[in-house]
Amino acid sequence: MRIVMLGCGGFIGSHLLDRLLPLGGVEIHGWDLDFSKIEKHLANPSLNLRQDSVSSSYALQEIEKEVEQADVVLNLVAICNPADYNTRPLEVIDASLFDIYPIVELCAKHKKWLISFSTSEVYGRTVASYLPQAGYQDLSLYELNEDETPLIMGPVHNQRWTYACAKQMTERLIYAHHKENGMPFTIVRPLNFFGPRMDYIPGRDGDGVPRVLACFMTALLDNKPMQLVDGGQARRTIVSIHEAVDAICLMLEKPEKSQNQIFHIGNPYNEVTVAELAELMRQTYAKITGDSSFKDHPIISTSAQEFYGEGYEDCDRRMPNISKAKHLLGWDPKISLPDVLFETMSYYHEKYAKSLSKASC
Ligand code: NAD
Ligand code: UDP
Repeated sequence: MRIVMLGCGGFIGSHLLDRLLPLGGVEIHGWDLDFSKIEKHLANPSLNLRQDSVSSSYALQEIEKEVEQADVVLNLVAICNPADYNTRPLEVIDASLFDIYPIVELCAKHKKWLISFSTSEVYGRTVASYLPQAGYQDLSLYELNEDETPLIMGPVHNQRWTYACAKQMTERLIYAHHKENGMPFTIVRPLNFFGPRMDYIPGRDGDGVPRVLACFMTALLDNKPMQLVDGGQARRTIVSIHEAVDAICLMLEKPEKSQNQIFHIGNPYNEVTVAELAELMRQTYAKITGDSSFKDHPIISTSAQEFYGEGYEDCDRRMPNISKAKHLLGWDPKISLPDVLFETMSYYHEKYAKSLSKASC
């Protein structure tokens, strides 16, 4: 199978390469700006890598040649860290919409199967979140269904929605090219994939505000308080990256089931509030380190304005209905949240806590 993989150097791309390359029989043409997460694959003869922005005119010419020969094009490109949505809005919109649209057009021109990674953020906030009190007692007001649930975003000045809106427009362009030009497509809406390499740790391999697991992990590594934004009452469902990769492999194996569909890939059995996640992470870190004092690691509250700056607004709850992935692909995630956290936090502990103690000797 010939695959063009855009954004192959990121978290999900790196795990897809780990899984696909050893299978044999695949030829992957990968593009990214950064290869630091896929160094171990750089010399693999089945991988043809290009370090360039997919938006450059040279890249587009080269990608067109690859698309013509490909069985499938996987688009993983994005700037997908919430701290960027209101602080780098133009780059965020470019990465998920304007840089990607020419690729969608190429796939449409050559009638190639495009698997494009979108986001559950296209739903914005749930209907339940706008109803006083009773909303969350009715599952139908907050459960997300790929083909039925409305997409409800906040006002324009809340720039948190730049990413969600750009992804939504790309989904609509893909769907329109399918309907008008017969382009086969699959849209993946991931919900909080967790695993090794998912994010950077500020002060070690990046700067800024990463996503919640890395923020809490940094607090544990640096002996600083974990911060709950607006009380940590938002909810997320967390799925293991390994099971997420299982789902993508099933899509590749079963085009007759996966083409022309939108799929949630998430684990509704692993729902937590962010406050519960902080609690679980400090318990897990006590287990990993053998230091029971982490069970009482300080947790403090902060406001969204203080933490993210102007224009942040949170998604409230992301409860995916995954029956499509279950019935069409035979995919049903099983890995529990404590197990996902144990693996992910052990990775960061091995990588950073150990090097830190060596450095301080
Ligand atoms: P990631 O940030 O680790 O990977 C994205 C990659 O795209 C990065 O390696 C980045 O360098 C690359 N990139 C950005 N702009 C580029 C450009 N112009 N040219 C070439 N490469 C470029 O993110 P990820 O977690 O691997 O996510 C992959 C996709 O899945 C994204 O589209 C994201 O929006 C979506 N998604 C992921 C999650 C999740 O839980 N990880 C959740 C929702 C949506
Ligand atoms: N969050 C938090 N403390 C942090 C970082 C994030 O309370 O140190 C919250 C954030 O406000 C949101 C949730 O954690 O409610 C998840 O944020 P994340 O950045 O992981 O991304 P998202 O799931 O929104 O894409």
